Amino acid sequence: MPRRFPIQLKLTLGSLFPLLVAILVCWLTGFYLIGSRIGTQAQDKVRTDLNSAREVYLNELEHIRDVVKFTGRSPQAATALNRGDRKTLDTLLTPLLNNEQLDFLNVVNAYGQIVFRAGNPAETDASRWSSRLVPRLMSGEEVSGTMVIPYEELLKDNPRLAERVVIPVQATPRARQYTKKYERAGMFLVAAAPVKNAGGAVVGALYGGIMLNNNTGLVDKIKRIIYEGVQFDGKDAGSATIFLGDLRIATNVTAPGGKRAIGTLMSEQVYDRVLLEKRKWVGRAFVLDDWYFAAYEPIFDPDGKAVGSLYAGMSEKPYLKIQGQLNLIYAGVLFFGTLTGIALSWKMGSRLARPIRELENHARRVASGEREVQIAVMTRDEIGDLAEEFVQMTRALSQREEEIRNLNRDLERKVQERTAELEDKNLLLVRTREELVRAEKLAAIGELAAGVAHEINNPMAIIRGNAELLQMAIPEETPSREEVDTIVQQVGRVERIVANLLKFAHRERKHPGKSDINRLLDEILNQVGHQVSLTAISVQKRYAFDLPEIEGDADQLRQVFTNLILNAVQAMDGGGVLTVTTKNNSTDGDCEITIADTGAGITRENLEHIFNPFFTTRSSGTGLGLSVSYGIMKDHGGRIEVESEPGKGALFRVIIPLAQ
Ligand code: ADP
Repeated sequence: MPRRFPIQLKLTLGSLFPLLVAILVCWLTGFYLIGSRIGTQAQDKVRTDLNSAREVYLNELEHIRDVVKFTGRSPQAATALNRGDRKTLDTLLTPLLNNEQLDFLNVVNAYGQIVFRAGNPAETDASRWSSRLVPRLMSGEEVSGTMVIPYEELLKDNPRLAERVVIPVQATPRARQYTKKYERAGMFLVAAAPVKNAGGAVVGALYGGIMLNNNTGLVDKIKRIIYEGVQFDGKDAGSATIFLGDLRIATNVTAPGGKRAIGTLMSEQVYDRVLLEKRKWVGRAFVLDDWYFAAYEPIFDPDGKAVGSLYAGMSEKPYLKIQGQLNLIYAGVLFFGTLTGIALSWKMGSRLARPIRELENHARRVASGEREVQIAVMTRDEIGDLAEEFVQMTRALSQREEEIRNLNRDLERKVQERTAELEDKNLLLVRTREELVRAEKLAAIGELAAGVAHEINNPMAIIRGNAELLQMAIPEETPSREEVDTIVQQVGRVERIVANLLKFAHRERKHPGKSDINRLLDEILNQVGHQVSLTAISVQKRYAFDLPEIEGDADQLRQVFTNLILNAVQAMDGGGVLTVTTKNNSTDGDCEITIADTGAGITRENLEHIFNPFFTTRSSGTGLGLSVSYGIMKDHGGRIEVESEPGKGALFRVIIPLAQ
């Protein structure tokens, strides 16, 4: 048998499956969108941050340019330069160097020779400055940019820079191999402007700059401006760095110890892209020990050489945290959504399945024979309709069953009636057959008896005549006279038998007349009294006095009642009660005569034979009395019935129609 798969589970799974698919898709899409959105936004932000950082960087350069430009226009400077007046230049430029916090401020003459160093006024080395820039300055142009100045040179410009310039290189994971242990070159923001005399002719040039090595002021300014002190986990979220080549020379990125990561290197991947390919890097980058959203761009010197790089970036952690939190919220919402979905769909499934289960229950009860099944209207839907139909069906079923039961009852009654009728008919048939048999028997016996009687009559007449002659001839006192008397007596008996036989065989024709039965019975009782002694017998007459005269052969009727009364008297040998009753059944058109005795009674076995001719239990009986009476009654359209119990007597009932 296939496994049972309940409707509730099916509904739950059915509604849950699309929900789960939708939730899964939302989940994945959400994860992807959050991740990519945050990534894109972070990249956009660091790109803008880098732009801002560049602006701050260029502003700083602008400031130096303004300083040198305006000082270069001063006639005093031109005059002093013309005259080679180092003192005046010192008075003019040294305060400027200090006030504007420049790291060096030099003056070159029209030949490009450095004639004065405000950062190191004592220095008299008049070596030539940049052969490429000086001509441009002499033509009146202003020049500015980032420059890398070798250690020996920068010490000439300002010996105090020795403290800040040297940066010990530290091993950095994922960075390229750095060849030097210390970086001694300095990276500077440098601006140069021509010095013009009163006539406007260029007499020399002024150039100054600030060193970027260990210059935390600039990077902190950048960070302050673009990240406005945003912190994460107690640390600044954003950072800015200035690289000399791939070496951090000014930064607020911190190393694991919490110190600024000056002297560490950018990752090789970024180096290749920014310094070798001279392209921007915007994206995830490994900074020191962690992943950052970072933007790098190359810093070019006035000759167009990529000498360093500017970086702005933020740790990924806050974003990852936000992303994690968002994912968590999202997952939570989806999780609870799923739970609610499961609960709702389970609940809905259960609501749908409950009435179905109830119906199933009812169906089972109906199947087991219960009919009084009540179903409340459960739901207003197809299931409700089904329940309604089910109730109707049960009602119809119970009606049909009631009808069938009634039909069965009718059928049973009819069968019983028919069976009873059939039994009656059978009984009638049996009786008729018995009658027929008896009639046939009687007819055959009658014929035989008639023949025998006829044949016996003549010899009997001769025997009688001769016997009577003998009687007359032999005197009474003669000893042989007794034998002759016995012969005459027995001949008389034989004649009676023969007469009875003839009566039985050729039943005499009826002589219709009217008889008063009560009177007839009285006469018979009277006559019987003469024949046999009735002294030991009490005769009780219970006559119906409204008995009308009946039609029939009076002699034949007399014979019947005489037989019955004699039989009764003979049955009560030691005395008893003889009850003769007459009853008027005029409604049925007949009358009933019963002759009851308290004699020996008739055994059950004999009851069947007593109406048969020659059946007798008496030694002197002929066995023809009852059979003849039976025939007479039949001729009159009546009948004789008998009831008897051995030892208690017998009752013979004669029923005769009042009219023939
Ligand atoms: P018979 O009287 O010559 O014997 P019946 O035909 O009159 O012939 O009776 C047949 C038999 O029926 C009797 O021999 C007797 O056994 C029985 N019988 C008739 N009437 C009675 C009765 N009243 N009580 C007992 N037995 C009877």
